[in-house]
Amino acid sequence: MLLFRMLYSTFANKCSRCNEGDVFKSKNPYNLKRMFEMHTHCSNCGLKYEKETSFFYGAMYVSYAISSGWFIIWYIIQNYLLNWDLLTFAFFVSGFILIVSPLTMRWSRIIWLNFFYKYKKEFSKKNKSCNFNTSEYAS
Ligand SMILES: [Zn+2]
Repeated sequence: MLLFRMLYSTFANKCSRCNEGDVFKSKNPYNLKRMFEMHTHCSNCGLKYEKETSFFYGAMYVSYAISSGWFIIWYIIQNYLLNWDLLTFAFFVSGFILIVSPLTMRWSRIIWLNFFYKYKKEFSKKNKSCNFNTSEYAS
């Protein structure tokens, strides 16, 4: 179930801890002017997304893994179905990875957040009735 929560948080642009507050300000990853703009805190549970300076540099490792995954998928498709020459394949994969890079950047940051802040049911809105102070969990 935790994997489902992590996937939901990643693909729906939601906070990793409560799965409700938005992480990025723009819902559209291809809004290139605002693609890097993130909320500083979760609007629902108050989680501070950038827990320390340069926290999201680590997301580059996740981004590298995702891009490698795209390459491997396309390499398998190329070998068994397409059989293009190497130069055509290289241009196609480079273009594809460039086109999906805004998505890859978002996914990698949210996956990185999920490594440090797992989903906890008590932070979701449905459990606000327990009435505890979320600000003490903000950092
Ligand atoms: Zn949250």
